[in-house]
Amino acid sequence: MKTGHTHLFIPGPTNVPERVRRAMNRPMEDMRAPDFGDLTLPLFAGLKKVLKTETGTVFLFPGSGTGAWEAAITNTLNPGDKVLMSRFGQFSHLWVEMAERLGLDVVCIDVEWGAGVPVKEYERILGADKKGEIKAVFATHNETATGVTSDVAGVRTALDACFHDALLFVDGVSSVASIDFRMDDWGVDLIVTGSQKGLMLPAGLGILGVSEKAMAASKKATMRRAYFEFADMVKMNADGYFPYTPPTQLFYGLRESLDMLFEEGLENVFARHHRLAEGVRRGVAAWGLKICAQSPCFHSDTVTAILTPEGVDARKIISDGYTKYRTSFGTGLAKLAGKAFRIGHLGDLNEVSCLAALGSAEMALRDNGVDVAPGSGVGAALEYYREALAAPQQMMLAAE
Ligand SMILES: *Cc1c(COP(=O)(O)O)cnc(C)c1O
Repeated sequence: MKTGHTHLFIPGPTNVPERVRRAMNRPMEDMRAPDFGDLTLPLFAGLKKVLKTETGTVFLFPGSGTGAWEAAITNTLNPGDKVLMSRFGQFSHLWVEMAERLGLDVVCIDVEWGAGVPVKEYERILGADKKGEIKAVFATHNETATGVTSDVAGVRTALDACFHDALLFVDGVSSVASIDFRMDDWGVDLIVTGSQKGLMLPAGLGILGVSEKAMAASKKATMRRAYFEFADMVKMNADGYFPYTPPTQLFYGLRESLDMLFEEGLENVFARHHRLAEGVRRGVAAWGLKICAQSPCFHSDTVTAILTPEGVDARKIISDGYTKYRTSFGTGLAKLAGKAFRIGHLGDLNEVSCLAALGSAEMALRDNGVDVAPGSGVGAALEYYREALAAPQQMMLAAE
């Protein structure tokens, strides 16, 4: 069966809209041309709008989110610095691992997978750190492995309540441009994202927003870095150039995806993601299955991790979804392997896309002996979508 296309419901890379794909189909051009800044300078301005920062500096590194993690750490910290982190899924785990490999003294709070950043515990530890030994606090805004969104504003409040001066690092790889994120309001010093999730582009860009405080820290930080040196970028970026060959095609794609986001309006983009996610969650509830996120305060509007019943290997759901129904779901990562499959509902999607995801999952679940009533998940979601689209404002308020 090769008709139609394979439906992509992984939480990244996400679907690249036709408009963006076409915008990237350009002949190669000179990255030192006198008018190259006409393309690149508006990208920095557009990304500042997406990150909601007036005072931050945006960097576009050829790389991915992981590279941007490394850039954030190596530019602003010193070897052996004490940092406060938490781990509750594969991505927050990998960030901790990187910080350790780079020689930081990591205080890591392990939290049950399904919960998020332990804000109260952070506040207790920061309050006890009277000498200010903790130089940075890390928060994974949206843990993609478990479908958990954390309270970044709460982390800022905890820092302020303790009059603590640590830098606030945020991983926004699977939240930026899909879930509300406010760099300036939340006092975020380093926000990290990538091109292939909410920004609806191929992988290839590691994107950073850096506060004035973090830029000042970068002038003194002694951790080794070369490729990711902020100062080299700042010098060249001033006129829209780069210290090495930039991925020009991706820039054309980014210009188009930013246009799409602003045409829809960021707040509408967030509302759409919330609506799509809520329909998926209602579908899962109608199946009688559980999701990994422990409580509604952690519900992620970009990805839902669905736990399969005892004795049902989630990998089989994913492989049947792919081979029989040509639908890609996200796999269960690390300790969720075999226990969960994920529906990514971010980026270039709409209500009917999500009904397709639920429909395919229903078939694969039934094929594997899970007793979900045919149409139950799809039915719950479609009724929600109908009502939500008929009265968008009221539904949004009711869902709060
Ligand atoms: C995808 C993802 C990453 C890794 O980003 P890459 O672009 O694959 O390097 C990091 N953190 C989170 C939360 C992610 O979802």
